[in-house]
Amino acid sequence: MTHKITGDLVQADSFFVDGDWKPARADALDVIDPGLGTAFSRIGSAEPAEVDQAVAAARRAFDDGRWTGLSGQDRSLLIWRLADLIETNVEQLAHLESRDVGMPLAQARAMIGEAVKMYRYYAGLADKVYGESIEIGSSALRFQGYTRKEPVGVAALITSWNAPMVGLGMKLPAALAAGCCVVIKPSEEASLSTLALAALATEAGIPGGVVNVVTGVGTTTGDALVKHPEVDLVSFTGSIPVGKQIAQSALGNLKKVTLELGGKSAMIVMPDADLDAAIPALSLAVFWNAGQICTAGTRLLVHRSVAEQVAQGIAEHGRALKIGYGLDDGNDLGPLISQRQLDRVEGYVHSGREDGARVLSGGERLGEQGYYYAPTVLADVTPAMKVVSEEIFGPVLGVMAFDTVDEAVRVANNTEYGLAGSVWSGDAATAHSIARRLRTGKVGINVHRAGGVQMPIGGYKESGWGRECGPEGLQEYLETKSVIQPLIG
Ligand code: NAD
Repeated sequence: MTHKITGDLVQADSFFVDGDWKPARADALDVIDPGLGTAFSRIGSAEPAEVDQAVAAARRAFDDGRWTGLSGQDRSLLIWRLADLIETNVEQLAHLESRDVGMPLAQARAMIGEAVKMYRYYAGLADKVYGESIEIGSSALRFQGYTRKEPVGVAALITSWNAPMVGLGMKLPAALAAGCCVVIKPSEEASLSTLALAALATEAGIPGGVVNVVTGVGTTTGDALVKHPEVDLVSFTGSIPVGKQIAQSALGNLKKVTLELGGKSAMIVMPDADLDAAIPALSLAVFWNAGQICTAGTRLLVHRSVAEQVAQGIAEHGRALKIGYGLDDGNDLGPLISQRQLDRVEGYVHSGREDGARVLSGGERLGEQGYYYAPTVLADVTPAMKVVSEEIFGPVLGVMAFDTVDEAVRVANNTEYGLAGSVWSGDAATAHSIARRLRTGKVGINVHRAGGVQMPIGGYKESGWGRECGPEGLQEYLETKSVIQPLIG
């Protein structure tokens, strides 16, 4: 069965290994359309032996030099061609993504557009991988040294479901630009666009075996990949508990690990902020993609003098957002990804209510079909409440009033997360001073949802290890080798 909606971009019940589709041996998993709550396709669930085959294909491709042996310029051209093919197929990919994840079609298109920029950015860096020249030794005995940057080897790329094309765009082109060969394990909740992309990589001329995809559940397929002795690096995006397991699982051969994990980002609003501009931006910072964004601004710290005004403004903006099926025109938000995620969001809001939160908007499931949840604003919350201290990954904002900047910064930093944050103020000195004090990998000033592939992203504290995007994102896939020779004369 192929997915009718996409022509034959994806072959169901199959993995993409060694440049071709490989039918899965055993049980397939249903692919659920979260807007309808019904299955519309199937994906394979790779057993350890099938993971072995994919890793062996990547290993062969790495060791025989079919990718590393190409010049940086040639790799660059092929990655660029892949970007072109993603762009050419944007409609099919966006339909696939919208159905698989639930996001509105226009948003899926925009995200694929962002992903294209990521492939082009790293295509541009592929021929700029170089080390340094260093003279060492004493006056009597001098040496010429230089460093070489070499690909780490076989990289396992494990992604989450909330933004598959952008999440993969932060990993795959950087890995390819560095010269790595990869096995990708997308989330079992949203694998289709990743499978399609692997087929496009082959169409672009990237040799078979360089980009492989296995699908399946984390505890079987993902686990086999992370523990595999022939994998040299794991680049993981997902939750903190799974990130910790992955760090343990990687110990066997001490493979390198980068972790892009969860967040509970604070948005600090000062009384001198331009509130008319801030309120809609704050609302979208938490509700966009139904709140399923790792950097979502889920804790609002607002100066007491404007707290009620800002909280009510966000609640009103949230109520006006159009929520519905991703493939229907004009919707701002789609459903949550799954029944499990809907139950999780309902559970957190219930706990907030029990703990004394005041529900300003939302707080309920929408409709009977699909997994829709209303944008929710909870006022009168405190840092100790679960709804404020734990990542929900849904459209739920907790509002806390503060009196002093020190208090705002203390509460913002009083969390194990450290992914992102934002400061809203009309005074540049105040805003930059607060930005410096926030213990997070990213801070926006009078903006929350902004960024580009040029800016590195990653977590302080338990939000992760390493960085993606920017030149740092490339370095994660490189080893440094020192070469030294005596200088004669
Ligand atoms: P998850 O941790 O449940 O799963 C992520 C991936 O890991 C999936 O592909 C899953 O199959 C796999 N996996 C699960 N258990 C595994 C195991 N034992 N070994 C190997 N692989 C395993 O996360 P999720 O529900 O898919 O995504 C939501 C989480 O991702 C949130 O916490 C969110 O904040 C985080 N996230 C972070 C970023 C970032 O850049 N920091 C971006 C997007 C999402």
